[in-house]
Parts: sequence; structure tokens; C-alpha cells
Amino acid sequence: MLKGIVNKIIPFSSVDGPGNRTAIFFQGCNFDCLYCHNPETIKRCVNCGTCLFSCNFDAISMIGNTVVWNEDKCKHCDGCVRVCKNSCGPKQKRMSVGEILKEIIKVKPFISGITVSGGECTLQAEFLVDLFDKVKKLGLTVFVDTNGSTDFRKNKELTESMDKVMLDIKSFDSEEHKMLTGKDNNIVLENAKYLASIDKLYEVRTVVVPNVLDNYNNVNEISKLIASLNPEIRYKLIKYRPLGVRLDKINSTQPTDGMMEELKLAAEKNGCKNVLVI
Ligand code: SF4
Ligand code: SF4
Repeated sequence: MLKGIVNKIIPFSSVDGPGNRTAIFFQGCNFDCLYCHNPETIKRCVNCGTCLFSCNFDAISMIGNTVVWNEDKCKHCDGCVRVCKNSCGPKQKRMSVGEILKEIIKVKPFISGITVSGGECTLQAEFLVDLFDKVKKLGLTVFVDTNGSTDFRKNKELTESMDKVMLDIKSFDSEEHKMLTGKDNNIVLENAKYLASIDKLYEVRTVVVPNVLDNYNNVNEISKLIASLNPEIRYKLIKYRPLGVRLDKINSTQPTDGMMEELKLAAEKNGCKNVLVI
């Protein structure tokens, strides 16, 4: 049976799409962003055993060649995550669609839908299609939070099964995007155009990172693109925050409110009607 590799499930989230939603974070990402706030979701565990003796609560063991995490014993101190040199940590669960559905059904009366995130959830597209099909039968909506690296034009099943997408455009400049994430942005920009053309682009997000990115150029060009596609698409400008990032990879500071306001005004001047700063 196909299983998804899940980092965590948050039963109620009001920041992962419209309304109250269950957010499911999948493990594994094909980008390695300098400012990643969840670096423990980037890779899959390789069972190296380094974290085995890091737990004071006996929640990690080795069964055969596999490192196994015991959720019931875990106190979520994240000691194991801190010692892992593989950008993961042992807190990964292989879950069937049925097991995830059980979690969703527990909270169904209180949510309007689910959002899948990560890591990069679209790397597990086949699993998502099956999950979405069953979630929609419950009368819930399905939103996808993505780094935009999966070509939705070529993934018809996934594209047809989801309701809307929240898309990161981390940089408009391909070289800068590569410096930040390890990959260029060609497919990301094509996805923005394609998803808007089929009315599945709910939101675009850009993180503002002083001294690392050309933030003014990014917001200027990305907002022009959004306005040309559909000015009503929400453009979310997110302040870089140093909390949880790998400080050996990035040297930046949180942008000021003044800078964010300036960028918001620039986006509005370019025609975006729904700009949000967080
Ligand atoms: S997060 Fe859980 S498994 Fe990891 S060290 Fe802490 S208690 Fe142990
Ligand atoms: S979680 Fe990290 S440290 Fe622990 S076994 Fe897996 S790769 Fe090794």
C-alpha cells in the first residue's frame, strides 16, 4: 500500500489557507533554502543512528537497520532533531491515506478543508491524488502549499484533484533563486502563469530577506506578474525571521515595518489588489 511520509499534522490552522484547516506537513524537499524555517523537513532519514542516544525519554530505537521514533513516548524536546546532521530528525511517520483520513475525520466539523505542505508535498504527488480524492468525498476543500518546482502542466491528475495552490515565488531572478534554493525558477514562473489561467492560484508568497535578496526587484517584478495574471490573487509578503533557521547558512535580519510597507505600496502601485504583510 502506498504510504506518505509525514512530518506532522496540525489539526487546526488559520494561517495555511482560507478558514480553519488541518495542515499536513510532508517530509522531504528538493530545495535547500538558505532561510528554511523547518530544516528538519528537508531530507528523509537515512538511518545513520546518530540520534539514537540523544533522547532522554527512550523514544528512539533501532529495529533491524531502521531508526524508529515512538510518538507516544516523545516529549517533543527536539534534542534528536538538533543532533541530526541530515536536515531531518527521526520524527517522520509513514502513514496510509486511511490513517490520515482518521485524523481529519476527528476534526471535520470544525474545518473547511485541508492544506498539504512540507517539505515539498508535491514530491509525493501520487499519494496526494489518492488523499485528495477521499478528502473531497467528505465535502472538504484541498489546498496545496508548494515551492512551485513540480510542473503542474505535466501533472494533470494532481492539478485536477486539488482546489487551489499557495505558491512560493522566492525570487524573480533565476540566478538569485538558484543561490537561495539550489534550483532555478523557470518552472515556478511557468506554474504561476498556468495555475492562474485555470483559476487555481490562490496566493503567491515572497519572503523578504534584507542583505541577501534584491527584495525591491523581486516584489516589483513578481507583483507586475500577478497583476497581469489576475490582480485579485493574494500576494503575501513575509518578513524573514531568524527563529529556527540554520544560522551557519544565512546572515540577515528581520526587515523593518517601514521596509515592508514600502514593498506593499510598490506591489499595489503595480496593480495588485490584495497584498498582505505578515
Ligand atoms: S523530540 Fe522526542 S524523540 Fe526527539 S529527543 Fe525529544 S523526546 Fe526524544
Ligand atoms: S534522524 Fe538524522 S541522525 Fe537520526 S538516524 Fe535519521 S538521519 Fe541519522
